[in-house]
Amino acid sequence: MSDEIDSGLNVDNSYAEQLTGFYTPSQGDRAPAATLIAFNQPLANSLGLDTDNLSEPQLAAMLSGGTDIKGAAPLAQVYAGHQFGIFSPQLGDGRSILLAEVLDNGGQRRDIHLKGSGRTAYSRAGDGKASIGPILREYILCEAMQQLNVPTTRALSVVSTGEKIKRHKPLAGAVLARVASSHIRVGTFEYFADRGQTDKVKLLADYAIKRHFPQLICGSEAEHHCYLRLLSEVCKSQAALVSKWMNLGFVHGVMNTDNMTICGETIDYGPCAFIDSYNPTALFSSIDSQGRYRFNNQPPAALWNLARLGETLLPLIGTGAAQAVEQAFSVSNSFDGKYRQQWLDRMRRKLAIYNEEPEDLTLALTLMNSFQLNYQKFWLDGMRGKLGLSNAEAEDKKLADDLLELMAAQKVDYTGLFRALAKVVAGIPGPAVDLFTHPNAFEQWLARWADRLERDPQTPATRAAAMNAVNPIYIPRNHLVEQAIKAAEDHADYGPFEKLQRVLSQPFIEREGLEQYASAAADTSTRYTTYCGT
Ligand code: AMP
Ligand code: MG
Repeated sequence: MSDEIDSGLNVDNSYAEQLTGFYTPSQGDRAPAATLIAFNQPLANSLGLDTDNLSEPQLAAMLSGGTDIKGAAPLAQVYAGHQFGIFSPQLGDGRSILLAEVLDNGGQRRDIHLKGSGRTAYSRAGDGKASIGPILREYILCEAMQQLNVPTTRALSVVSTGEKIKRHKPLAGAVLARVASSHIRVGTFEYFADRGQTDKVKLLADYAIKRHFPQLICGSEAEHHCYLRLLSEVCKSQAALVSKWMNLGFVHGVMNTDNMTICGETIDYGPCAFIDSYNPTALFSSIDSQGRYRFNNQPPAALWNLARLGETLLPLIGTGAAQAVEQAFSVSNSFDGKYRQQWLDRMRRKLAIYNEEPEDLTLALTLMNSFQLNYQKFWLDGMRGKLGLSNAEAEDKKLADDLLELMAAQKVDYTGLFRALAKVVAGIPGPAVDLFTHPNAFEQWLARWADRLERDPQTPATRAAAMNAVNPIYIPRNHLVEQAIKAAEDHADYGPFEKLQRVLSQPFIEREGLEQYASAAADTSTRYTTYCGT
C-alpha cells in the first residue's frame, strides 16, 4: 500500500466507529494498470473530492482501491439475505468495500464504495472482481435513473484495472466507485436477527434512524413506537421507489433482501432492464426461472422483503405497540372475531409470516398501511402525471389500467407511447396512434381520455410540457446499452458509452439528431436476457 492520499474529502467514519462487529476492515487490491475510464465530475465536486490537486493516475489508483485515503477506515460490511426467497445467513461485501464515508458539500453523509476491488472476508468462493461490462452497465443505468428522478445510488467512476479476470472467457477487469446515502440493507438487519443478537439489531436500528430518519429520534415517546415508525418510514420510502420503477417501466431483476436499502435508493444494478414493448410480466434475468422479480411482481416482492425487515424488528417493537397500532388503525371494532383471523391468516401467507404471535397483527397492519396504501397512491399519482392530469377523479385508475391493457395486447413501446401522448395533447395524434397495429380500441381510449382532460384545468401547452417533464424520451434502451458494452469489451472503445451517457443526461429534452436513441430496437423478436454480472 502506498502513501496516504490527501483527497480533500471530509471523511467521517461513523459506521466504522459506531458499529463494531458489523464489518471487517478491508482494503482493495492494487490494480496492475489502473486507468480512469469514466469520471463523474459534478458528483466528485459535490462530494468535495479535490480533483484540482489529484492527477488522473492518482484518482485511478484511489478509485480502484490501491491507495489509502487520509482519515478513511475502509471496510467490508457483513449482511445476510433472502435470495429468491431462500435465506442465506452469511453474505456481505464479497467484491466490494466501503472506501470512505464522507460528509459531502451539503453536509449529507454518503458512502463511497468500490465494487470489484478484490477479495474480502466475505468473498466465499468468489474472486472479488468485476468485469468491465457489468460495471459500465451499472454506471449507465444508475446515472440514467438519477436523471429520471428515481432515488438511486450514484456512479462516481469506472477504472479499468489492466487485469484479466476469469469468467466464461477472460474479461477485462474493472472497478466501479458508487456513492450511496448508506449501504444498510434489509439483509444487514437479518444477519443479526438470525443470530438472535437483538442488541445488535437495536444498535443498527438506532444508527439507521439517526442517519436516515432523524425526525424519528424518539424523545419522550415509548421506545417501541420508534422502531415501528422506522419500519413505516422504510415501507414508505420503498413504496415511493418501487412506484417510480413501475411508472417508468424499470425491472430491477434481483430484489433479494440484501439488495434492498433502508434509505430507499435503488441499489445493485445487475440484471436490470427497462421494458420496451409493454408486458406486465416482463422478465429479463437469466437466473430468475420462476419470475419472482418480473415487472408486475415488484410491489409484492418489496412488501415481502419489508415483512422480513419487520420480523427483525419485532423483538424491539413488542406487544405494547400492537395495541397502539390497532388503535391507530381503528381496526378493533370493525376488525374483530372471525374476519380478523381470516385477514391475518391471509396476510401471514402472503407475507410468509409463520409466527403466530400477537405482534404479527402489528406487522401486517403496518406493512399494509405504510407500503401497500402508499404504493397504490404513489403509483396512481405517477400515472396521473404521465397522463397529464393535475387533479384526481375516482375513475383515473381504470383509465390508466385500460391503456396498459391495450398496450400489452398490442405490444406497444411503453416509453414511446407515453412520450407520444403529449403530442396528442398538442393536436398531433399520429405518432401515438401509429404505435398500435390495430388502432381502433386505442382511438376509443383517446376519446375517453379527451373527455377526462376536459375536466382538468390545465391549458394544452402547460399539460404537454408537464407530461414531457415526466415521460422521458431517452431511456437506457437495452440494445443501446448492449452496443455500448460490446464496443468497450471487444475493442476498448468507450465512444458509444460516452455518447449514450451524454444522451441520457437529459432524458426529458428532445434533441435533433438523436432519433435512434428514442426508438425501440429494430428487432425485438428475441427475448432480451440479462445476467447478474458476478
Ligand atoms: P449480488 O447478486 O451482486 O447482490 O451478490 C450477492 C452476494 O454475492 C454478495 O454477498 C456479493 O458480495 C457476492 N458476490 C458477488 N460476486 C462476487 C465475486 N465475484 N466475488 C465475491 N463475492 C461476490
Ligand atoms: Mg447485492
